[in-house]
Amino acid sequence: MKKISLWAASVLLLAAACKNPDVKEIKAEEASMSEENNDFQWQTEQFADLRILRYQVPGWEKLSLQQKKLAYFLTQAGLEGRDILWDQQYRHNLEIRKALETILKNYEGPKDENWSNFEVYAKRVFFSNGIHHHYSHAKIEADFEQDYLVQLLKESRTSLSEEALAVIFNDQDMKGVSKDPNKDLLLSSAINFYDPDISAEEATAFYKAMTDTSDPEPISYGLNSKLVREDEKLVEKTWKVGGMYGSAIEKIIYWLGKAQEVAENAQQAKALGLLIEYYKTGDLNTWDAYNIAWVQDTGSTVDYINSFIEVYHDPLGYKATYETVVQVKDLDASEKMAVISDNIQYFEDNSPIMDAHKKEKVVGVSYRMINVVGEAGATTPATPIGVNLPNANWIRAAHGSKSISLTNIEGAYENARGEGFLEEFAFSAEELERAKKYGAVSSKMHTALHEVVGHASGKLEPGVATPKETLMNYSSTLEEARADLVALYFIMDQKVVDLGLMESLDAGKAEYDNYIRNGLMLQLRRLKVGEVIEEDHMRNRQLIAAWAFEMGAENNVIERKVIEGKTYFVINDYEALREIFGEQLREIQRIKSQGDYEAGKNLVETYGVQVDADLHAEVLKRTEKLNIAPYAGFIQPEMKPVYDGEEIIDIEIHYPTDFLEQMLMYGETYSNL
Ligand code: ZN
Repeated sequence: MKKISLWAASVLLLAAACKNPDVKEIKAEEASMSEENNDFQWQTEQFADLRILRYQVPGWEKLSLQQKKLAYFLTQAGLEGRDILWDQQYRHNLEIRKALETILKNYEGPKDENWSNFEVYAKRVFFSNGIHHHYSHAKIEADFEQDYLVQLLKESRTSLSEEALAVIFNDQDMKGVSKDPNKDLLLSSAINFYDPDISAEEATAFYKAMTDTSDPEPISYGLNSKLVREDEKLVEKTWKVGGMYGSAIEKIIYWLGKAQEVAENAQQAKALGLLIEYYKTGDLNTWDAYNIAWVQDTGSTVDYINSFIEVYHDPLGYKATYETVVQVKDLDASEKMAVISDNIQYFEDNSPIMDAHKKEKVVGVSYRMINVVGEAGATTPATPIGVNLPNANWIRAAHGSKSISLTNIEGAYENARGEGFLEEFAFSAEELERAKKYGAVSSKMHTALHEVVGHASGKLEPGVATPKETLMNYSSTLEEARADLVALYFIMDQKVVDLGLMESLDAGKAEYDNYIRNGLMLQLRRLKVGEVIEEDHMRNRQLIAAWAFEMGAENNVIERKVIEGKTYFVINDYEALREIFGEQLREIQRIKSQGDYEAGKNLVETYGVQVDADLHAEVLKRTEKLNIAPYAGFIQPEMKPVYDGEEIIDIEIHYPTDFLEQMLMYGETYSNL
């Protein structure tokens, strides 16, 4: 719920599309990189709708040996759980992946066009951690015949079950995660969190019965289990040692134990101990205790995310996908941005939301700019650029949360930017100039305000259940919209300039241009003809932009102009648009605070889902010629211990260049299920 990966990817396509001469302190670490880094290959290849990028880990050499070991052990722990995500996303994923791996390794026949198509298919599957698209959740199409695959299997001395083979080509399990309100959300989703015959109604009833609504500190019901039917009854199969995924979890625990031995301080060691305990028992009370201990560990330089975290991929929002991030704090950049969390009460007090929905005292949000060292599970190859955890509302309220921006990932996006989007979609020279000058800064500010202020802001009215229960399948979209609106409202507040975070409000204007351009037009390039918008972040962006366009229509706040057949949305009055964003924020906060499902549904369905077919076609035509794939993901760095006898005396970091090679290496090294 607190992740903004998708926001990032496409906003960055814009923000990152501008060569910014004015990236200051935040980018200092790049300025200090050695010269050969200028030649660093940021993008290695592009295929289908994907680009493969690389990132660097600045400051690695400055870490102590103990910190390097800690980062290394945590990264290994992460990778050992890789198979879990594959299985979670679809019941045939692991079997299919293993067959693809074997073919890629063993096949010696002709490398013709069929073979290239097969290779692209395999790479797309690796990128999505399964056969459903990582973003749209649609089943990935194979551009070769079933007969050809059968031949490859045979010649590579491997096989696939009849069902797994058929599903690559047939019309079964077409959607990994379905959001279609006209269908049963579970029966129409291929995700492997529930037995295929369990309906949304049954699962919801199961968890409703289990939930104690009077408990002010509820556990995260259903978070770490698969719901299955046994002897006519629904039961949970818990992901833990001795339970489901036990063989992978034991390996995760092994590395977490080694990490605990080299923890930076007692609090971090305590948290790691609780995480191990949770993996052993599956006890969700221990999960909460772990999260509290983890939030309280604010002193460590090396930090991490590891476990079943985000619930985006469960249409019902109970079950979490496996993910890990291992990270090193970027001290200078964190200090600069800390000014936002230091002033967080100012933002709450001056928010346009109703007084009844404001927090009297916003509890500590710890915000860090970090450099990623390694990711595994759902955070890779496609990665978030900002994360805010934990997800349990009561822990956030009572103990605070940790919010991170992934600095080196953002830097890599910028360095790998594709040229041409701005030139194509900016209306005036002034707009283009502003975007080039401020794009990177305003993108960072948006991320920071979204994460630190946005998600931490506001409160529910007394007696109102959690948004997951009241707003249900619309809760993620509305939460992301709320956080974006907080960012949009305050990025045009003089306070942000006074705090020294931006040099002028023109950076805010650049963000407004960017948001409207992207929300009303550019993001449509991610959809195929005839598709509607399903992804939460895309929905929230169009919701805000399209609704703002309509709200400002009378005063021509945003104007639709068509010049030589090209459409532009031009902001005529930035102050008025800010007021509109404020009104939207007030309403969406009200919907959350009061649990007003009908109003939330109405907003999302009216503004966030449907696509203007003509505009969509125009966007596809205008972006096609730029030939920049709309999604990007990363090859992970690899750490190699240097031994003196038995003893590790250093850990080196390498930056591989071959995506497929890394995928095959992972398959060989971390095959635990
Ligand atoms: Zn968010």
